[in-house]
Amino acid sequence: SSLFEALAPQPADALLALIGAFRNDPRTGKIDVGVGVYRDLEGRTPVMRAVKEAERRLLEEQESKGYLGPEGDAGFFEALKPIIFGATDHADRLTGLQTPGGTGALRLAAELIARLNPQARILLGEPTWPNHHPILKAAGLELAPYEHFDVPSQRLNFAQALETFNQAKRGDVALLHGCCHNPVGADFDAAQWQALAVVMRDRGILPLIDLAYQGLGRGLDEDAQGVRIVLDVVGEGLLAYSCDKNFGLYRERVGALYALSRTADTAAIVQSNLLSLARANWSMPPDHGAAVVRVILTDPALTEDWKAELTEMRERIRSVRDLLAAADPALAPLKGQQGMFSTLPLTPQQVARLREERGIYMPPSGRINIAGLTPDAVPAFVDALASLR
Ligand code: PMP
Repeated sequence: SSLFEALAPQPADALLALIGAFRNDPRTGKIDVGVGVYRDLEGRTPVMRAVKEAERRLLEEQESKGYLGPEGDAGFFEALKPIIFGATDHADRLTGLQTPGGTGALRLAAELIARLNPQARILLGEPTWPNHHPILKAAGLELAPYEHFDVPSQRLNFAQALETFNQAKRGDVALLHGCCHNPVGADFDAAQWQALAVVMRDRGILPLIDLAYQGLGRGLDEDAQGVRIVLDVVGEGLLAYSCDKNFGLYRERVGALYALSRTADTAAIVQSNLLSLARANWSMPPDHGAAVVRVILTDPALTEDWKAELTEMRERIRSVRDLLAAADPALAPLKGQQGMFSTLPLTPQQVARLREERGIYMPPSGRINIAGLTPDAVPAFVDALASLR
C-alpha cells in the first residue's frame, strides 16, 4: 500500500476547469467572462509595451543572477511607494518587502498577524476573493465574515461593515479591498473610508488592505484613496500589493507587503519579523517581474508609457460597463462599480444554462470579468441574460 494513502483528494480549481471547457467549445461567438485577467479588444492578455522595453533593457544590462536577500528588489520596493502612498513619505515608519505576488503578501501578512496575536479575528466582508479564506486559514487565523454586498439588490452594505467594526475587539484585523473589489466591484467612497478608519483607530483594529488592481478602477491616485485615508487616520496597518494586473505581469508573481508602524523602532522590529517569515516561506521572491517594474518606474518615459497603456485598459473596462448599463436597466448598477469584476444575481442553474444554450462561460457564483467582453459581444451577452427572465 502507498505511503500517500492517508491523503484525501481535493477539489480542482473551478476556474481552471472552465478554461478547458471554453477551449473545447466549437461554437463561434462563445464568450469567456470567467477567467480573471485583463483582455484587449482582440481577446488577448498582452505584454504591456513598457514591460517589453524594460525586459529588453534587462536582457542587455543585467550582469548577475546572484541571490538577493529575503527583501527582494529594494529599488522596486522604493519605486512603488509614491505610486501607492502619493506625496506622503512615511519615512522610517514604513517598511516591508517584495513578495511573490499579492498572494505572497497576504500570506506573509497573515503569518505576521498570527505571530503577534494568535487570537486575532479577521473581519472579512463577503463575498470576497475565494482565495482569501485558505490563505488566512493556512496561517491559523479565525475568520469573522460579515456581509459587504448584497448580490440580488447589487447594494453595498456599509452599515453592516460599520456595525461589525464597532463590535470588534482590540487586536482584530479588518481585511479590506483597496479598490476594484473582487468579485463585486463595489468600493467604499471617501466618506465611508474615513468613517471606517475612525472606528478602526478608536477600537484598535489593525487594517490589512489588499490592493491588487490599482489603476484599473478610477485612476492610480483615486484607487489608492482608501489606503491613504486609512493609514493617515489609523497610523498603522498592513498593505498587500500586487503588480500582476496593473503591469500585466501575472505569471511573474510581482507583489509587495508594506507595513506602517507608529514609530521607527517598532517598524524595525516588524521588518525583522517579515524577513524571518519570508526566509521560512520562500527564502527570497522571484526577481524578474519586480526588476521590470523597477526599470519602468525609475525611467520617466517608460513610466509615462505604462500609465498611458494602463489608462487605455481602464477606459476599455469602463466603456464596456457603460454599454452593459445602457443596454438593460437590470445591469445599470454595473456602471457605478469599479474594476474588472461584477457578480450577477444568477443561480448556478442559470449559469449552466448560459453555458449550454449560449456558450457563455462564468463560474457558478455569477462573477463576470468585464474585460472578457468586447463592445461587439455586448448585445449577445445582454440578450442571453434577458432570456433567463
Ligand atoms: N487579491 C485579490 C483581491 C485578487 O483578486 C488577487 C488576484 N486574483 C490577488 C489578491 C492576488 O494577486 P497575485 O496574482 O499577485 O497573487
